[in-house]
Amino acid sequence: MGIRFFSDRNRPVHLGPYPLERLQRVDEMPDLSAVPPMPALDFHRPERPESIVNAMGEFQAMMDAIRDGFVNPARAEIPSDPVERANHLKAFGYFNDASMVGCGPLPAAAILQPPRRNPDIDRLAHALRTRQTKTLASGIDLIMADLKESMEAPPRPMEGHAHVILFLYEHWRDPEPGEPGSDWILDAQDHRACIRATETAVVIANYIRALGFDARAHTPTTSEVDLNRLAVAAGLASLEGGELRAPWLGPRFGVAAVTTTMEIAHDRPLAPLSRQGRSLNGLGWKLGLGHAKSALNRDPYARRRYVDGAHPFERLKRVDRPTTYIDEANVARVPKRTDMFARAQFGDLGPKVQEGAKGGHYVRKSAPSLAQRRALGAFVLLQDGESAPGPRPTDAERNAANLKAASYFLGIDAVGLSRCPDWAWYSHDAVGEPIDPPHDQAVSMIVDQGYETMEGASGDDWISVAQSMRAYLRFSLLGGIIAQQIRNLGYKAKAHTVMDGEVLQPPLLLLSGLGEVSRIGEVILNPYLGPRLKSGVVTTDMPITHDKPIDFGLQAFCEACNKCARECPSGAITAGPKLMFNGYEIWKSDSQRCATYRITTPGGAMCGRCMKTCPWNLEGIFAEAPFRWAAMHIPAAAPALARLDDAVGNGGLNDVKKWWWDIELQPDGAYRPSQHPLNRRGLQKDLDLKYEDQTLAVYPAPLAPHPWPYPFPMDREAGIEAYRAMVPAYEYRERLARGDM
Ligand code: SF4
Repeated sequence: MGIRFFSDRNRPVHLGPYPLERLQRVDEMPDLSAVPPMPALDFHRPERPESIVNAMGEFQAMMDAIRDGFVNPARAEIPSDPVERANHLKAFGYFNDASMVGCGPLPAAAILQPPRRNPDIDRLAHALRTRQTKTLASGIDLIMADLKESMEAPPRPMEGHAHVILFLYEHWRDPEPGEPGSDWILDAQDHRACIRATETAVVIANYIRALGFDARAHTPTTSEVDLNRLAVAAGLASLEGGELRAPWLGPRFGVAAVTTTMEIAHDRPLAPLSRQGRSLNGLGWKLGLGHAKSALNRDPYARRRYVDGAHPFERLKRVDRPTTYIDEANVARVPKRTDMFARAQFGDLGPKVQEGAKGGHYVRKSAPSLAQRRALGAFVLLQDGESAPGPRPTDAERNAANLKAASYFLGIDAVGLSRCPDWAWYSHDAVGEPIDPPHDQAVSMIVDQGYETMEGASGDDWISVAQSMRAYLRFSLLGGIIAQQIRNLGYKAKAHTVMDGEVLQPPLLLLSGLGEVSRIGEVILNPYLGPRLKSGVVTTDMPITHDKPIDFGLQAFCEACNKCARECPSGAITAGPKLMFNGYEIWKSDSQRCATYRITTPGGAMCGRCMKTCPWNLEGIFAEAPFRWAAMHIPAAAPALARLDDAVGNGGLNDVKKWWWDIELQPDGAYRPSQHPLNRRGLQKDLDLKYEDQTLAVYPAPLAPHPWPYPFPMDREAGIEAYRAMVPAYEYRERLARGDM
């Protein structure tokens, strides 16, 4: 990742990772007619079937198809100050990992004549009409209807769109021909930046419309405006010698924009780079004084190969088997219907939880996650499909390197490869049909939920659900592209997303060396990202070499620490020992309690407080390196480190980083400040949680519901009994040896 010496804990999120606020600006709008218009991007490379660009095309077209849409007639009650609004929208862009965000006017010189429309939208519409859609995701009919309308609707006038929010995504180092894993990703920088910027613009345009203001996303493939000219107007780039350049990045970036009727404050255009002097290249930039990006770490791949990822995964100790026992021969396969969110929808957890889950209310009640949900639904239609005749490359090692490098290049935070054993598949799909595992290889991926917003959050307040959905959406997009790439090469592949997945992901993450079992339960903890992650898996029949599980000392650490259990607002995390559940040794949490809290909490939307408060949830600065080293190498230090983490207040609230509005969906359809007491908690350092005082329930295979989409009420008393009946791994093995299982 490069080195970061200084924390940015005192920097508001809307300022972003680059010190843009230090730059010289001008009052007058430069002559935009001199700015060369942005050329249209083409996502077809028939002459290079191995290029990842081919796999991105349908995803870009899908996002272009939903860049506009329904404007909520019930306007939200949000701050009226244009500066606060601009800061809020910028922070949302940075939450989505934009490199730079600027706000500006929409000058007449930036209107494109004629507008640009991605021809792939029509091809995609045709394909969706004729293609057999394999998904079993709920609500798919609504998704299809929404898409049909979006693809066929004539463009609406952009009346009153006087404001622009521009999202800039930087290029990293160009992959070298011959570099391991570079076969698919050469000459794809513009396309990569395009899909990343488009994802953000599409989500934020949808967000603004949900608040009751008109807004539309504009991308390098579909737009009514010239994005190069907007980059100048929004103060993110300047014209230098006939070429568009952004500070610190030069010409190496891509952009997308949102135009809107929502009044927001504008940034002033940049002064020429020659006048920027020390603000651009002074000591502050060189060392990163108070901001995340600096000359030391701007490009995470400047000195690293894409195939290795941005974090030093190669330093981790590899082992033959995961650090927790899996009785592979006796893992009980359960139906997809056991998923707690599915059970909630069918009423298994009672009417109150069913009401909270109905129609995804726990997602819709928060406006940012409602905005993310539309793209997430649309990508479901692309996560599986037919394979092309393709070249079917057979070199397993080369395939593995290409898969990893491409995933990292696109923006996945950690990738691991493993077999995909039958026992990792659900027994039945979402409609109750038995699953005959179609693929035996797995590409597991992790997306960071983002430290900065987590620092400002309580973990269970109004941004929590959007933190999850942001990571799920990122995997749906990038994991979906990787699955499409594999299918383009002639093999089968399916991306298993939060909307439609048929594998249990935690064991695959363990097998592929992406983490160890943590006290949180089903959450696998990665040494560089902590538990602050969401995962996704692409299964395939492509031949690949495998990674090995890792051992970074987490079992000893979690034995000595129970901070997540103490801080869990629903009391769902065990303070006790690891036990055997369905053939796995884990700290088994009470997922009924967890799901109930996440779905019904009135003071926020969903919960990830365990991720927020864990000592492994780190900022990534140099000063934290000794903690991580000691935690990984000195098991005996774990109790002291856990206490130290508490003593310095890690996991507390940082109001500087709170950028979202605490607004909630009201019965009339408007988002207004929530009337419920807000979930915003400090640490409960004085609470001495005892395992003996906990009453937890668990639903192993014998208590699992039938596989069909009909109610199957939970029997909590039986669940509590089942928890008491679980045994530690050593006892389980003894019983196995005695034939007593
Ligand atoms: Fe393990 Fe402590 Fe993190 Fe919980 S909070 S997952 S016990 S390290």
